[in-house]
Amino acid sequence: KRKIQPTVEDLVSEILNGNITALSRAITLVESSNPKHLEKANAIIKQCLPYANASVRIGITGVPGVGKSTFIEAFGLYLTSIEKKVAVLAVDPSSSLSKGSILGDKTRMEDLVKTNNAYIRPSPSGTSLGGVARKTRETIILCEAAGYETVIIETVGVGQSETAVHSMVDFFLLLKIAGAGDELQGIKRGIIEMADAIAINKADGDNLKAARLAKVEFNRALHLYPQKASNWQPKVTLCSALERQGIDDLWVLISEYIKHVKDNNYFEQNRTEQNKFWLLQTIEERLKSDFFNQKNIKEALHTQLELIENGKTTPFVAAEYLLKLNSL
Ligand code: GDP
Repeated sequence: KRKIQPTVEDLVSEILNGNITALSRAITLVESSNPKHLEKANAIIKQCLPYANASVRIGITGVPGVGKSTFIEAFGLYLTSIEKKVAVLAVDPSSSLSKGSILGDKTRMEDLVKTNNAYIRPSPSGTSLGGVARKTRETIILCEAAGYETVIIETVGVGQSETAVHSMVDFFLLLKIAGAGDELQGIKRGIIEMADAIAINKADGDNLKAARLAKVEFNRALHLYPQKASNWQPKVTLCSALERQGIDDLWVLISEYIKHVKDNNYFEQNRTEQNKFWLLQTIEERLKSDFFNQKNIKEALHTQLELIENGKTTPFVAAEYLLKLNSL
């Protein structure tokens, strides 16, 4: 017995009505590797596109244990309390290997999961960051069409995933915790450069004093970075996700930022630049995988790698040879 699948038109109109089941179904199509599903997904996205874009996209990163899920739950609950619909997505290329390190665990964000105006979608699996990023970007569009005006994208502070998330959001938040005077150690400079705000979490109890100190240090450090293209001076705030303190202040800060970048047109420019970036990124990724997936290339590559091992050729000669075999 075959189940009747909803048509593209049915799904689109239900998504626009805010129907979560339809939204989830469409996201499953986006995440599928079946070409038929992808074709349907593309048709849905195309029809949803005119209704997308009207949201604030917020990226959140931080090392494991910093309090991301506790924070997102507190932040999400605050946003729903002021009548906003919130979608929470994740980019976690490692989850396919480690079987779901973020968002996979159902016990995370227990209260937010139960909230009507919140939609939480676990991280899609995938072997390449590019693949995971595509799925997340298309999911953003579907969530926006379903009326979610705040879209939060979480990522762990490892590898290149922050860069990918930074390239799909309007506002990038770095979560930190205060250390014993070593605040500025072990942080990748690039991540600080991307941040529009740094929130020092766990600013509660005995941690409060250290958190205040960290705030001063980060503020000082941030002023040493060159002016951002948005002309926005990144801010440092304190919060306690656990005690749900400082969450509303952060929303005020994000709202100020959005007003700032809408006034100076950076908001639109940035989204356009992001779209151009993803166009090029998608082509690069596709060309690369198509190239390496050709049968003759696979075989010839194997041989050339052996020749390199035995010192019988140079990387450049081997690369030239392989590229000439390309029949794309
Ligand atoms: P994640 O790995 O970044 O998602 O971090 P979690 O949200 O899972 O939090 C890691 C641990 O830190 C948990 O035991 C939380 O209860 C705790 N935690 C999170 N936020 C706070 C906070 O604001 N204050 C304190 N004291 N603990 C927190």
